[in-house]
Amino acid sequence: MSVSALSVMVVEDHGFQRRMALRLLAGLGVADVTEAAEGRAALTLLAERGRPPDVVMVDLDMPGMDGIEFIGHVAQRGLARSVLVVSALDMALLNTVQSMARAYGLRVLGSVEKPLTAEKLANALSAYDTQEYDEDIDEPIEISATEIREALAHGQIGPWFQPQVELVNGKPVGVEALARWRRPDGRVVRPQNFIGLLEREGLADPFTDLMLEQACRWKRRWDQTGLHLTLSVNVSPTTLADATAADRYQRIVIAQGVDPAEVVLELTESSVLADAARALGVLARLRLKGFGLSIDDFGTGYSSLAQLSQIPFTELKIDQGFVAGAHEQPRKRAVVEASLDLARKLGLKVVAEGVATVEDWQMLAQLGCATAQGYLIAPPVPPEDLPGILARWRRPEF
Ligand code: C2E
Ligand code: CA
Ligand code: CA
Repeated sequence: MSVSALSVMVVEDHGFQRRMALRLLAGLGVADVTEAAEGRAALTLLAERGRPPDVVMVDLDMPGMDGIEFIGHVAQRGLARSVLVVSALDMALLNTVQSMARAYGLRVLGSVEKPLTAEKLANALSAYDTQEYDEDIDEPIEISATEIREALAHGQIGPWFQPQVELVNGKPVGVEALARWRRPDGRVVRPQNFIGLLEREGLADPFTDLMLEQACRWKRRWDQTGLHLTLSVNVSPTTLADATAADRYQRIVIAQGVDPAEVVLELTESSVLADAARALGVLARLRLKGFGLSIDDFGTGYSSLAQLSQIPFTELKIDQGFVAGAHEQPRKRAVVEASLDLARKLGLKVVAEGVATVEDWQMLAQLGCATAQGYLIAPPVPPEDLPGILARWRRPEF
């Protein structure tokens, strides 16, 4: 949806600021705009509408009902599809309000510091689409073996990309390719709905090859525009049983003009240990060719440290189950700390998965974790959209 197609409500007590917001919105071509000078009047207007507005822009510091209380009512009564906080207050407080709104289950587009400018507003509103990517596509669906074969053969399955950024400075350093099935009816299906079936149908190899090839093609294209990102690709456990896999992956990557040293293959602990003897040979060969190897979902498997230390991993991904909410749950935090400690001792890079709040980001930064991936930065997005999303991304301030 383009910004001009959004319906927006402006809630702002200060007359000049409110007119300024309305003028900027008109400048962006937004036609469906309503306004209110204080929280209670805004709630009444919202309750009377048939369809909630896409975005409510709200000032926090208002006499009477303040923005924080207002957001609470909007969230509990489902009166808006998302909120955008506009305020002269400092970023730390804005971040707290964002977390509160998210905790109520309300989508938060972000916060904008006053004074409002056309650029700030356009950037903030364009997040509306970004956050839509992962909606509507979660319901389990019935898929037949024929359907999945055809989808793979007809190029309907391919990678979306989720960025990985450095925690010290917010710099984008990599992307993980995550499979999506774009169906002819326009629906996008997430991998948990079809990967198991692909594997049962004996299609794990062609699927992994295809993901690797297409992801490398995109990487090469971004490289040529000066956007340098390492590429992480998930590898099905069954492909590790094949002794020729290492040579094949090398051929695929090099054919796309990509150096294997810029590609990380992600494997789960359990997949490696299922047939350790054979997998170890393939993994050692992949390392020899320069590929990075990452332990995915670290902490959820049952491998012993002795087993892990035998595998030539270069990276450890802390599972999102331990990352999300770790700042307020001592047990999760302990797992995160222990993982970071182990990684340091084994000389592994660390990526924290599922970083969804500023508090998680802050804690990881304090603990010295290098890299973050998660909804706070961006969900997985279609390849065409990645450069724009990275250009708009700003590291949280605290
Ligand atoms: P994964 O490798 O652990 O990938 C991370 C998953 O977490 C992705 O789900 C991603 O969208 C989601 N995620 C990332 N950040 C956040 C966050 O902040 N909050 C929450 N709630 N979720 C977050 P997705 O794309 O649905 O993929 C699910 C799984 O499917 C992947 O888990 C991976 O195991 C598998 N998969 C995806 N693509 C491939 C592929 O090309 N090959 C293979 N073999 N497996 C794949
Ligand atoms: Ca992964
Ligand atoms: Ca994971």
